[in-house]
Amino acid sequence: MINPKLIQQFVVEPGTTVNLKHFVTDWTGTDAAQELGKDIIKERASEILAETRKQLDAVQELLYASDTHSVLLIFQAMDAAGKDGTIRHVMSGVNPQGCQVYSFKKPSAEELDHNFLWRYMKALPERGRIGIFNRSYYEDVLVVKVHPEWLGPGQPTKPDANFWEKRYEDINNFEKHLARNGTLVLKFFLHLSKGEQKRRFLERLTNPDKHWKFSEADMAERDHWKDYQTAFEEALSATSTKRAPWHVIPADRKYVARALVADIVTTAIQDLGLEFPKVSEDKLAKLQAARARLEKKDPPETAETHES
Ligand code: ATP
Ligand code: MG
Repeated sequence: MINPKLIQQFVVEPGTTVNLKHFVTDWTGTDAAQELGKDIIKERASEILAETRKQLDAVQELLYASDTHSVLLIFQAMDAAGKDGTIRHVMSGVNPQGCQVYSFKKPSAEELDHNFLWRYMKALPERGRIGIFNRSYYEDVLVVKVHPEWLGPGQPTKPDANFWEKRYEDINNFEKHLARNGTLVLKFFLHLSKGEQKRRFLERLTNPDKHWKFSEADMAERDHWKDYQTAFEEALSATSTKRAPWHVIPADRKYVARALVADIVTTAIQDLGLEFPKVSEDKLAKLQAARARLEKKDPPETAETHES
């Protein structure tokens, strides 16, 4: 487990105004990290990931057995920040039946005809499961804030500050509703530097195995970098709460991001203090009777029992 004090520096304190420049994108560049050395950090990060993967699998089983809570993990980031890889690595040890991933793309005409939370509500995890939103309702105050023309029919063409305030309020109320109904909500912004995004895009253009990952639309969005950073700062400031906190994860080093997310998720679920359901006296007696029956020597099988 990573020292909780270290983790605390990545949490957006509720009620504070976020300035993303105050959050690092490359944690290995910090003084604390440089004392350790990059090789040691890389090694330690991979150990943490391996340890927490096992713990996460165990705690997911407990989540399923206790049947009182669900977990919703939200991932938001600029393109090429590593959302997919982080989700894949962190969840790779968990029973696939215990988790579900939804990737949200541009909304359909039908989705645009509903309230903006509709399509996400339908994708919420049931009790006992971990649901992952790869992009989420936060797109509706991020990409759409940068491109208000994508708001859809029946919406203002030039939304004012009040319009976005109301959306933040809706989101906070929605998350309050989820928390009250047993959903643990954890939100991760994978914080990538513009320079590292450029390097990753160039890699996609140079390495034939990565050509498929390149999208011209991503290049177009890169031109709006500043607007996106502002939209993120505003959204993170308005919606980080005790019950659904935002984490700003340094994402320039993939191994750092993965270890941090794995640790935060595992620790938060463990902190729910779940317990396996207690078996009643009556049920215990039935279990013992079944065991005694199974332990008795079976009678030889007859031809009749074969047929039936
Ligand atoms: P990858 O590129 O790694 O496969 P991705 O999440 O970037 O994954 P894309 O299909 O490339 O997936 O992009 C999805 C696009 O859909 C993004 O540009 C995102 O901003 C956009 N999108 C998601 N939700 C909304 C929304 N509510 N309104 C408008 N656009 C949205
Ligand atoms: Mg994309």
